[in-house]
Amino acid sequence: MRAFLVGRDWCCRWPGCPAPALGGDNDHRVNHHEGGPTTPANMVMLCRHHHNRKTDLQAHYLLDPITGDVFWLFADGTWAVDHAEGPLAPVEKRWVQTYTQRRQRRSERAAARAAAQEFEAYQHGADARARAQEEFEEAINQAKAENGPDPPEDTQPF
Ligand SMILES: [Zn+2]
Repeated sequence: MRAFLVGRDWCCRWPGCPAPALGGDNDHRVNHHEGGPTTPANMVMLCRHHHNRKTDLQAHYLLDPITGDVFWLFADGTWAVDHAEGPLAPVEKRWVQTYTQRRQRRSERAAARAAAQEFEAYQHGADARARAQEEFEEAINQAKAENGPDPPEDTQPF
C-alpha cells in the first residue's frame, strides 16, 4: 500500500515540493477517525512539513482516484493542481503502456512488412530463376533439335 503510494506520488504532493515520497508520511485526505478509508483513493504522500500544514487546515485537497491528480485549495483562496508523476501514476502508466504498445505494434508492422518484402523478393527471384532455367533448357532443346545431337568431345572442330 505504502509502496504503491510512493510509486504513484514519487514526491510530496504539495505543489512544487520536491521532497521524495519515500521518506514522507501517508496522509489520509479524509482522516481515518472520520471514516476516511485507508486506500490509495483517500491517501497521498506528503513530507512532514506539508503534512503538518495540511493537518493545521492551511490547505484542503481533493484527489482524483483515476488520474492521481491532487487539487489543492489553500486558506487564502488560491488553488493548484499537482499531477502524480511516479512510475505507478495512472496517467504515467497509461502513457507508458500506450507508448510501449505503439512501439511494439510499429516494430511488428515493420517486421511483417520486411518479411513480406523478403518473401516477395525471394519468390520473385525464384520465379525468375525458374523461368531462366526453363528458357535455358528450352534453348538447349531447340538447339539440339536444329543441330542434331551434340558431337562427341573429340570431334569438335576447334
Ligand atoms: Zn512537501
